[in-house]
Amino acid sequence: MAKIGINISTGSLQQQDIIVGIDLGTTNSLVSIIYPDTREPVVLKEYDGSTLVPSVIHFGDSGKVTVGDEAKEYLITEPFNTIFSAKRLMGKSYNDMRSVSSHFTYKIHDDNSDNLVKVQVGDLFYSPVELSSLILKELKVRAEHILKTPVKRAVITVPAYFNDAQRQATRDAGKLAGLDVLRIINEPTAASLAYGLGLKKDETKTIAVYDLGGGTFDISILRITNGVFEVLSTNGDTYLGGDDFDLAVLSYWVEKLKIDRSLLDANKNLLQELRLKAEGAKKELSSMPDFYSEISGSPISLSRSEFENLISPLVSRTLTSCKNALADAQLSIGDIDEVIMVGGSTRVPLVKESVENFFQMKLHDSLNPDEVVALGAAVQADILAGNNKDFLLLDITPLSLGIETMGGLMDVLIPRNSKIPAKAGRQYTTQKDGQGSMRISVYQGERDLVKDNRKLAEFNLSGIPGMPAGLPKVEVSFLVNADGILVVTAKELRSGVQQAIEVRPQYGLTDAEVEKMLEESITYAQSDIQVRALVEAQTEAEQILGTTESFLQKNKSFLSDSENETTKQAILKLKQIIKTGNKDEIHAAIEKLNEISRPYAERLMDEAVTDALKGKRI
Ligand code: ADP
Ligand code: MG
Repeated sequence: MAKIGINISTGSLQQQDIIVGIDLGTTNSLVSIIYPDTREPVVLKEYDGSTLVPSVIHFGDSGKVTVGDEAKEYLITEPFNTIFSAKRLMGKSYNDMRSVSSHFTYKIHDDNSDNLVKVQVGDLFYSPVELSSLILKELKVRAEHILKTPVKRAVITVPAYFNDAQRQATRDAGKLAGLDVLRIINEPTAASLAYGLGLKKDETKTIAVYDLGGGTFDISILRITNGVFEVLSTNGDTYLGGDDFDLAVLSYWVEKLKIDRSLLDANKNLLQELRLKAEGAKKELSSMPDFYSEISGSPISLSRSEFENLISPLVSRTLTSCKNALADAQLSIGDIDEVIMVGGSTRVPLVKESVENFFQMKLHDSLNPDEVVALGAAVQADILAGNNKDFLLLDITPLSLGIETMGGLMDVLIPRNSKIPAKAGRQYTTQKDGQGSMRISVYQGERDLVKDNRKLAEFNLSGIPGMPAGLPKVEVSFLVNADGILVVTAKELRSGVQQAIEVRPQYGLTDAEVEKMLEESITYAQSDIQVRALVEAQTEAEQILGTTESFLQKNKSFLSDSENETTKQAILKLKQIIKTGNKDEIHAAIEKLNEISRPYAERLMDEAVTDALKGKRI
């Protein structure tokens, strides 16, 4: 559930600064703003009129990083160092991505664990947060260039189905890009706001938001009651979008022109040319009946009806998702009051017609479908800036609340600017075999290391029955009640032992102190995230060392002498590098060890190894 309309009189940096709305998309990203004089949301435009920044990052040889159209050029010719769809990796582990890893042409670091994924480019490892921050940084620079003023604060949108970890990752990316992220809001909520839905009091409406982008399809059913948005259901297909339209056209041409597949595999430039042509044809057919062009001297063409035949099965699939979303919300088509079209691919006439027929009503499609989400984010930003006077103001948490995890890292449970009352919970596990107690340290603040934050309370959860490390399930829950009192509860789920504590987070904290803490979190974001990445790499290395060593001990006799020997050497190497190396060297050493142990681990498939890697340790 998402609510909007927040008073940020506390918990924000310089009030007079502008706040931008950012649509951080899988395929394209863009920035929007409400100018104080016109009071209308507009998408920021470059001098050449372009608004969309492709969410693609290219890492050049000399360490040069480019983002956007320029980077997109390298997608097929330099697949290993050109990163697309970074948004799909946000808050995900390798285990989450395993089944879809073939979708990516670049290297996703396979550590066979539930740790967060990293992308390997040459010798360097990037987290999805770092990758997204590169896109956000580019957007920030462009916005500053266009607006001729520093851009420090933003509202960023995420899909309605994003979980806590994915939302937090998006916040972190913003922080790393030097942005104070005032709010993360749902994309369908933003789209509704862009059409003015949800801005009136005493309004109750049920809205379907149909979002067909480049690589993903989302249908969300929302209910607005008195300016508060609630997500009733979401459905869709995370691998269905305009890119699939392009591929359908590409395959059609390859067959029609009798182009040899092996020729395409060998000639990446031709493939790239065909792909871009296919996308061009698709776009042109949104407004024209026919497309004519040529490729390497041969004429090619596509009519709208040919195109519609190609994509009609894909469009049908989106309608099945719509049916499912309605069923999940326990609604029928007649219950829907408004339908909003979002995403560049809804420009395709067949898509519009099909959705109109399905819902049997006129669609909201007057705004540019690839801009509505950003426009709505700007509307939200304007409300947060306090410019929209007749909007209801709610109490919020001015600083993030969380606990200390391994290596002194801050794990945020309730992000700042959450409305009160707020509730959150997360599971943790033990670090050592037979560990009988766990120290829960509660902190407040925006920095990555707890030592830089404000300690609120600390207590011990004792009486955890002896179990191997990683097995206990300790659920830590945070509840901030209407009076601003935080209740922290820790409960070991297998045994039922629990412990709770109450604190007043705001006690003795002035507005100036809050502001100072926020400013510092932006100032130190870069170094903070580096320290976090190093600590995380070290923690991951320790875990892998622990499990590999105990695996080795148990299964020594099943391994060949050379397997035993090379593993021991890789272990030694990793131990050395944990102390002296940087995060990239540590990841490389982990990868080495994994490469050695993977074949025999798979051979012996010991459940305990994979099990023991689950869960974050305190
Ligand atoms: P995302 O939300 O995934 O970042 P967008 O909403 O920007 O993506 O949609 C991108 C998709 O829209 C691409 O597949 C692009 O080819 C497609 N698209 C853009 N303009 C048109 C058009 N005029 N006709 C058909 N498809 C279009
Ligand atoms: Mg989108």
